[in-house]
Amino acid sequence: MALDDLVLGLQRALDRLVRRLRLGAPPVPGRRRLLIVQIDGLSRAVLEQALARGRAPFLGRLLRERGYQMAPMSVGLPTSTPAFQMAAMYGVRPDIPGFHYYDKRRKVDVYFPRGGDAANVEKVQAAGRRGIVGGGAAYGCVFTGGADNNLLTFAMISRPSGRGVLRTLSKSVVLAWVLMKGSLASLIELSRAALRFVADPLSVSPEGWKWLAIKIGISVWLRELFTLAVAHDLYSGIPTIYVNYLDYDIAAHAWGPRHRRALRALRRVDASIHRLSRILRRVPEYRYDLYVLSDHGQATCIPYQRVTGGPPIERSLFDDFLDPAGALGAAAPESRRRRFAHGLKAYRAQRAPGFFQRFVNYLERDFARILGETPDARERAGIRVIAAGPNAFVYFLESAEPLTLERIEARFPALATAISGARGIGLVLVRSASGPLCFWRGRRYGLDELQRGPFAGRPDLERVVEGIRDLMAMPSAGDLVIYGSNAPQGDVSFISEVGAHAGPSADELHTFLIHPRGADIPSPITHPVQLYSYFVRYQPEAV
Ligand SMILES: [Zn+2]
Repeated sequence: MALDDLVLGLQRALDRLVRRLRLGAPPVPGRRRLLIVQIDGLSRAVLEQALARGRAPFLGRLLRERGYQMAPMSVGLPTSTPAFQMAAMYGVRPDIPGFHYYDKRRKVDVYFPRGGDAANVEKVQAAGRRGIVGGGAAYGCVFTGGADNNLLTFAMISRPSGRGVLRTLSKSVVLAWVLMKGSLASLIELSRAALRFVADPLSVSPEGWKWLAIKIGISVWLRELFTLAVAHDLYSGIPTIYVNYLDYDIAAHAWGPRHRRALRALRRVDASIHRLSRILRRVPEYRYDLYVLSDHGQATCIPYQRVTGGPPIERSLFDDFLDPAGALGAAAPESRRRRFAHGLKAYRAQRAPGFFQRFVNYLERDFARILGETPDARERAGIRVIAAGPNAFVYFLESAEPLTLERIEARFPALATAISGARGIGLVLVRSASGPLCFWRGRRYGLDELQRGPFAGRPDLERVVEGIRDLMAMPSAGDLVIYGSNAPQGDVSFISEVGAHAGPSADELHTFLIHPRGADIPSPITHPVQLYSYFVRYQPEAV
């Protein structure tokens, strides 16, 4: 830690030298600056539990001793990072029904890890609005939020020119330190694993190795890189910074939101926030305001195939409901290799802003896939099924607009009822002439009847209803939106994970915003779209 300070001090001296050589004026003190730290995937319930048990000691201290307060926040549906960030960064209610979906009108899959997709969605849906990170830096986010700096600036190191050289040198100090420290930490993790293996070869399962890869990849390198890069930005007085720490979310997907490994990841994030906070105290003249928030929570879940013992949902829907006789004829699933090659090409291209965001998207969802699983889309004779997590979408491609229940059931009578009664299925949502409907365990409910069905006893019923209404108003949500949430067997995810999000459970839907005392934040926060008008005030000529 002291060494980190030394390195940052050195870098700060370099920054001063850069300024003295009139390469740029020092940032003007006075205007308030913004630092948003997102802890991806952390529900308020898990945070409160962690605080009570001392598992997030620094956040505990912020709340107890430094006068910070925690406001509850509901994040809307789907409970997913891109939907949250589009709303919070640009103030729009997004058309982003999941992490992977199909755009019927453009006839393309939107799959956030794939190169170009996040940038495209951002361009179209932000529609020229000012982002809350405008003129600043974003790390680990799905979208740029208008940031100039997306860690991509590191790409400039290979061709520094003129007055950029000194500045580059300053960033290089940080980069070199991250490389050194990251390598050392990786080495330590690896030797620990080797020792464990020698001591007891059976203790390291294939899953254990997978976890190790993730841990080294994400926890050590990325968190370290983000923390030092943000530290650098704070010393330079970058006006707006949005950093998203992914460690907890990834651990919670792999092990469950309350697993000790997930809580340990949270503790490491807590330590990073502590480091950033110490720097904030050293540059009071920049008047940074610190906010810590989460984009969604996670629900403990059971993988679908463990529940059914059968094929993945994108096959069982065809086998059991959409094409039981195999009459539609098979079409080859999208080539995995082609998709992967496409992603790698984008990875290498390193041009567009937001490149780093896409890389982060790979980490968030694609680790399992990189390690050998198949993508979750399947199309047969004009019907496309996409599994995106605890949610799956069925699209009837005959129409570019969403189909209502009436149209769907003209072709497949009682389809929604039947699917909702199947093993491993929770809710089936569908549009109808009279508004969205929810099918649950073979019965049909209007949105005004949900308290008698799947959401009986939920004090936040209003939020759930609003979430379902928003979700089914999205043109890109499937003609059928199928959730594993609230199945008779428990919460089910359609991909291989034991922690999931996108659904309406209380843990997924309710998060928090930790803010300085007296901050005039919207209250209550029932949707992240409300954050926009608050955070955009940090922009110079706020609209
Ligand atoms: Zn996640």
